[in-house]
Formats: sequence, structure tokens, C-alpha cells
Amino acid sequence: MSDFEVVQVPARSDNFAVLVHDPQSGATLSIDAPEADAIETVLNERGWKLSHILVTHKHFDHIEGIPALQAAYDCEVVGPEASASETGMYDRTVKDGDTFRWAGAEIRVIATPGHTLDHITYWLPEEKLVFAADLIFSLGCGRVIEGDHDMMWTSILKVRDLPDDATLYCGHEYTLANGQFALTVEPDNEALKARVAEVEALREKDKPTLPTTIAQEKATNPFLRADEPALMAAIEMENASPAKVFAEIRTRKDKF
Ligand code: ZN
Ligand code: FE
Repeated sequence: MSDFEVVQVPARSDNFAVLVHDPQSGATLSIDAPEADAIETVLNERGWKLSHILVTHKHFDHIEGIPALQAAYDCEVVGPEASASETGMYDRTVKDGDTFRWAGAEIRVIATPGHTLDHITYWLPEEKLVFAADLIFSLGCGRVIEGDHDMMWTSILKVRDLPDDATLYCGHEYTLANGQFALTVEPDNEALKARVAEVEALREKDKPTLPTTIAQEKATNPFLRADEPALMAAIEMENASPAKVFAEIRTRKDKF
């Protein structure tokens, strides 16, 4: 087991990059590169040198910082095979089921299409760290832009199946708005009500609501609860398939 230091870096208006630093080798990776300046500031404060960027998907708010960071650090950029030619930014590509080692730690690649077709999630089983970017947010999920609802639900299930105590990092600080929507779906969910109160207090102090855990999202996030009898009853869809329930709440959120 490693002694990695993990630092979440707020960037742009509501994005996060996440830096993982291995004190033994000095290697430092960034999950996505929303903004070079914000990432460089944290690297400089800590005296870290960026060695790798792991890209989750091709959207500009996750890759725009890559050229400047590569120029400054000569780091290796790893990204999804499915968007390699479109972005032209990756030194190495990965796809579903790939496993590689970074600073001695195993990193697994899980294809999680739906928001975009290239979207992947990085999973570090030994450290129990999940980097799910725009697949799952706290109390929410990414917009289904390139895939369809069935595809997104299948992708969410893959990440929901990871251990309950895994730490889940996400691409955006959307939790407060997500919570307001989630309460319209499950107004009587006590765990959700408590989480929204906590989120309101954190945001009042301008503190992040992330990372979260798989267990917390299973208890509170409507998009992970589409097969939960309590949620299905709350929206009177007891007899629908989970994929249909997911599609219904995702469609409601689009209009919220
Ligand atoms: Zn995105
Ligand atoms: Fe994004």
C-alpha cells in the first residue's frame, strides 16, 4: 500500500483536477487538465513535478491545460483510445480493461461511456481511489450527450459496484444544485436530507463537497438509486425497469 498524497485542485469555474503524488519516487499525476495555471500553482506550492496526466474524456474543460503543462513539465499524457485522433493530445492510449502500474500502484481503466463515448474511469484498487470525472457527480451524474440512457446506466453500475468505502473523485462541484434536484425525486430520503444540509454548510464556507464515497452516493444520489424500491415508489415507477427509471430522472434533471 502506497503513501500517496491526493490533492483536489479547483479550476475554471467549477471543475476539479486531482493531483496524486508519490513521495517515494517523486512522481505526480494529474487526473485531467482543466486549467494549467491552477494546477501549476499547487505543484509549485508543494514542490512537485508533474510526470503524468490521465485524461478521462475529450471535453475541453478536461484537456485545455494539457499543452501548457506538457511544455512546462514534459509529462506523459495518457488518454482514452476512442478520442485519441480527435484530440491529438495523448502520448499513450488506454481502453476498457487495461491495467497499468504507476508508482507501484495498479490503475485499472473502466470504460464508462454515456456522457461522451470515450469517457473512462480510473480505478486504483489498492488505494481505493475512483476518478469518475463526468460520469458521476455527488448527488448527480453527467449529462448524457453522446451515448444513450441505457449506456449511461450501465456505466454507472460498473462504478457503483466498486467497494462502498472507495473514495470517489468527480469532475465538477455541482453538488448543491444536484441536491436541490435530488430532493424533488426523493423528498423523504433522510440520508439525502442530511447530506444536502451538510453540502449547504460547506458551500456557505466556500468549501468543496468532494470527494465523496461510493456508499454515500448509493444512499443519496438518485442516479445510483434507479433500481432502489424506495426511489421507484417515490416517482411511482415501481414496475419499470431500472434503465427506464434512470432515463426518467435524467430527463427530469435536464429540464430542472
Ligand atoms: Zn464533460
Ligand atoms: Fe466536464
